[in-house]
Amino acid sequence: MTVVLRAKTNDPGDTQMLASSLADLLVDGDLVVLSGDLGAGKTCFTQGLGRGLGITARITSPTFTLANHFKGRLELNHLDVYRLDQIEETLDLDLPELLERGVTVIEWGEQILPALPDDHLLIRLLLGSEDDERLIEFIATGPRWSERLGGLERAVEARPSC
Ligand code: ADP
Ligand code: MG
Repeated sequence: MTVVLRAKTNDPGDTQMLASSLADLLVDGDLVVLSGDLGAGKTCFTQGLGRGLGITARITSPTFTLANHFKGRLELNHLDVYRLDQIEETLDLDLPELLERGVTVIEWGEQILPALPDDHLLIRLLLGSEDDERLIEFIATGPRWSERLGGLERAVEARPSC
C-alpha cells in the first residue's frame, strides 16, 4: 500500500501548522523520513511537529550532532543524516533501539532508505514557484499508516492543494 497526498504551504508558519496537525496522529514507534534540498523546510517541519507533540524546547538542525532527543506527549528522536558518507555509518546511529522508543524523524533520510523499515511516512518538501511556497508530498507506506489514512488525509486536505 502506498498513498500519496499533496499540500502547498505559503510560509514557514503554514508548514509548521501542517506539521503540528500531523503530530496529533503520531504513535510510538513511528518513523517519518523527510526529504528535500537544503532550505526546503525539513527542520521547519520538524519544529511544527515538535510543537504539536507539546515539546517546548527549541528544535534546531541536528546536522552536526546527528541526533537530538526531546520529550513531549511522545519522545522525539530528531536525526539529520546529511553528513553520513556511507550507509554503513547508520549502524552507529543505533536505529533499531531509537525506533523502539517515541517518534523518529530523519532529515535526508531518503539517503539511507535501504537501512530503514519499509513501514514509514515519507515527506518530500519541494520549493514552489514563489519564494516562500513549498510543495509537500506525503507518501504513506505499510500497515502502520493504513489505519490512520483518514486522519492523514484530513490533516493534509485542510490545506490548499497545489
Ligand atoms: P532544511 O532543514 O530543509 O535544510 P530549514 O527548515 O532549515 O530547511 O529552512 C527552511 C528555510 O526556508 C527557513 O529559512 C524558512 O524560514 C524558509 N521558508 C520559507 N518559506 C517556507 C515554507 N513555506 N515552509 C518552510 N520553510 C520556509
Ligand atoms: Mg535541516
